[in-house]
Amino acid sequence: MSDYETAVRFFEQSADVMDLSQNMRKLLLTPEREVKVQVAMEMDNGEIGTFIGFRMQHNSARGPMKGGLRYHHEVDAQEVLALATLMTWKTAVVNIPYGGAKGGIAVKVKDLSPGENERLTRKFTDVLQDVIGPDKDIPAPDMGTNAQVMAWIENQYEKYHGFNPACVTGKPVELHGAEGREEATGRGVATLTMAMLEKCKHNVKGATIAIQGFGNVGSFAARFLHDAGCKVISISDVTGGIRDADGLDIPKLQEHVAENKPIAEFAEAISNEELLALDVDVLMPAALGGVLTGDNANDVRAKFIVEAANNPTDPAADEIFQKRDILVLPDILANAGGVTVSYFEWVQNRQYFHWELDRTRLELDKIMLGSFHKVWEIAERRKVTLRLASYLLGIGRVGRATVLGGI
Ligand code: NAD
Repeated sequence: MSDYETAVRFFEQSADVMDLSQNMRKLLLTPEREVKVQVAMEMDNGEIGTFIGFRMQHNSARGPMKGGLRYHHEVDAQEVLALATLMTWKTAVVNIPYGGAKGGIAVKVKDLSPGENERLTRKFTDVLQDVIGPDKDIPAPDMGTNAQVMAWIENQYEKYHGFNPACVTGKPVELHGAEGREEATGRGVATLTMAMLEKCKHNVKGATIAIQGFGNVGSFAARFLHDAGCKVISISDVTGGIRDADGLDIPKLQEHVAENKPIAEFAEAISNEELLALDVDVLMPAALGGVLTGDNANDVRAKFIVEAANNPTDPAADEIFQKRDILVLPDILANAGGVTVSYFEWVQNRQYFHWELDRTRLELDKIMLGSFHKVWEIAERRKVTLRLASYLLGIGRVGRATVLGGI
């Protein structure tokens, strides 16, 4: 099942419970604008490189559209649209005044030199600059992009529109970025993992965790959980995984990875498939979508799944987890910390005001925990999964804003 089919299936399941009319379903699912562009540039060797870029603007009923920019060779229109749809529900679940969008370029970032990456980003901004902006659609980092890429976008956008730092978030702190943005998604994921364990009367200290992906989200989530006394016993990245039953030393692993050393040299090597089937308390996919499917869901031995990545579980796997009483903390709630601090960054940029890290963390924890408890309450009251409860909350808010605003 494709990412988009997964996103639609989860939407339809919630729409059935909400008894939404077919017209309303069509309105809420149809993207407001789909942009597909050629991004052509000169490569370092003098040849012409031609890439395809996307920006899918799904819904703006609750405010300007917001969503990450992914550089990955598997990026395609359907995947980006699925992720844009998730952003609409996600911003509504945490109740920040945004709609949903997503973008990406089909490219292997590892094959680009820093100069090529910069030219690609500036070219992409050239072709997108009239449809994005602080009151229209605000990009942010996602897989394969980072603060440096956001800095190039800001600089290029400002060549057309003048000083405008709120046009993009996830920027370097030295260039109008927010303190705490880089760690925000991982922090939010870790905070809600602990909140969920506590709700289920499971010890946080000593809880065993396996995390697929050790990039921005996976590494910060691992670090916060490690610092809180959890045992992160397995980690993986695109090259494979490692395991240590006594718990990996995450700060040391971060140093190891920062020195560009392969993670397989750090501890006993295992495969990504083995990681998904480890006997742990919490399994946390924090890399690609579509990794938990009907084919491998029965191999999962974790008691809890925390969706740090977007769209990691397909509906067949979701059904199996429900039957097996494995509690799933869904992506549109679990990883909303990133967009929440992006919102704080946008607010600070518009007010020309700078928050200290403590304030960011305090406000982030308040929004994440408040949303978690709201979703938990809906799940208990309506006797539905946390995913369905999150969708009911998110779709309900978007639907009400649409009706109130009128068409
Ligand atoms: P990233 O590029 O920083 O890191 C991705 C990690 O996944 C890397 O460690 C990479 O080696 C690993 N990986 C890639 N392919 C893999 C594979 N086939 N098997 C195992 N590992 C693989 O990306 P990120 O920003 O950490 O994003 C990770 C996930 O979190 C994505 O699904 C993204 O959409 C989601 N997300 C990110 C943010 C954010 O603020 N960055 C916010 C919300 C959701």
